[in-house]
Amino acid sequence: MIQKLKQRSFKYYALLVVSLLLPLAGFFVYATRYQTGFFSFLALALLVNIFPLILFYRRLKQKRSEVKLQKEEFFERSNLLKSELDKENHIIEAFRRKIVMYSQLKDLVERLGMCLSLEDSARTLCGDLCRFFEPGDATAILYLFDAHAGDVCIVYAEHNRHPVNIKTKRGDMFDQWIIKNLKSLHLEDVKNDFRFDRRKVDEGEGRQVRSLLSVPLIVHSKVIGILRVDSPKPSRFHKEDLRFLKAIGDVAAVALENAQMYDKVEDMAIRDSLTGLYLRRYMTERFQEEMVRHLRKNTPLAFIMIDLDHFKQYNDTFGHTAGDLVLKHVAMLFKEHFAAPGNLLCRYGGEEFCVILPDCGKEAALALAVGFVRRVESTSIVLRRTRTPVTVSAGVAVFPVDARTKDELIQRADLALYEAKRRGRNQAHAV
Ligand code: GH3
Ligand code: MG
Ligand code: MG
Repeated sequence: MIQKLKQRSFKYYALLVVSLLLPLAGFFVYATRYQTGFFSFLALALLVNIFPLILFYRRLKQKRSEVKLQKEEFFERSNLLKSELDKENHIIEAFRRKIVMYSQLKDLVERLGMCLSLEDSARTLCGDLCRFFEPGDATAILYLFDAHAGDVCIVYAEHNRHPVNIKTKRGDMFDQWIIKNLKSLHLEDVKNDFRFDRRKVDEGEGRQVRSLLSVPLIVHSKVIGILRVDSPKPSRFHKEDLRFLKAIGDVAAVALENAQMYDKVEDMAIRDSLTGLYLRRYMTERFQEEMVRHLRKNTPLAFIMIDLDHFKQYNDTFGHTAGDLVLKHVAMLFKEHFAAPGNLLCRYGGEEFCVILPDCGKEAALALAVGFVRRVESTSIVLRRTRTPVTVSAGVAVFPVDARTKDELIQRADLALYEAKRRGRNQAHAV
């Protein structure tokens, strides 16, 4: 268009030059030959030239304004196209992000489907969450409802591909807000949110938290926990991220409930239903592993066998149900007394309990056994409104000093127990 206009204006210039030169040439010829009427000729020539010049000027002005208008229109259209293109690009980018997110979600669902235990599921979930919100400033935390504590409790937390130890095990004020309101939470900056007290935010547990996303985990209209991602940077998460976390939460809630169920069933298979102690089968499996481990470490492994004294009498006097109560009572004391981490407590048979004590020598094991005997003796149980005393006897043997094999160790502890019974019961004896 501009090219065409330029060609046309060139034509007008040529016309102008020709119309000026021709009368001038005529003027020179005329002036040299006749020298008369020069001024009248000059006036005529100028009149003849001014007229096309005015016409040309008017035309040029019109064309210029036309070009200006067209130019403006062109820029307007190009701006419109640009903004539309930006919008389209934005939508395409959002779609691309969504596709990536939902393919990650699909992978997570598949991986969660493969996890059986709660520990595996929690690890997979938090690990994937941290990866979704890379680069690694985000911390993913999973809380589950603990029926015993009547509150939520941290099951697993991960930061930058490593497990983290979070001090506030029962959650902070943001988690409590979720439990109270049963709503998801997106905080751009925890310090600038009217719902939370700024002073309490500053008093946090030492871990810097500026922005967070958190959703309640709900299965069959029941809250089973909270899934949370937080970051020390403000405005780290977007609205879209919260929507994504909600989708993950919906999937994870079902997977976690299944995993909890699986753990429960598995636990039931290895625990005695009356006392909650491990069954003998599980203990013997673990026994072998522990012996190998201690042999490698060259540290002693103690084994204590415990038997209730004259237990048959409780059954005979008060009935079998009362006998069960006595077993439960002693089992409770047993768990309390040998609660140290690493100890393996088991109901060996009828009214016999045993405990494997890692890295424990004979003296320490005997002291523990004596302590337990005294502890049981110091308590009593009410059976059919009768305060009834309960006593136990214990036998102690230590690997590898007393025996080289598992069966031999059990046999030696059993012999020591027999000796304690023989010496009058209500006592502990070591090989
Ligand atoms: P001792 O001091 O020599 O160990 O005598 P005891 O009576 O404790 O030993 P005995 O082996 O004669 O009796 C054990 C009884 O424990 C026999 C059995 O009926 C009872 N028993 C075993 N398992 C259970 C149980 O789960 N519940 C109840 N109520 N009784 C049980
Ligand atoms: Mg017995
Ligand atoms: Mg007995």
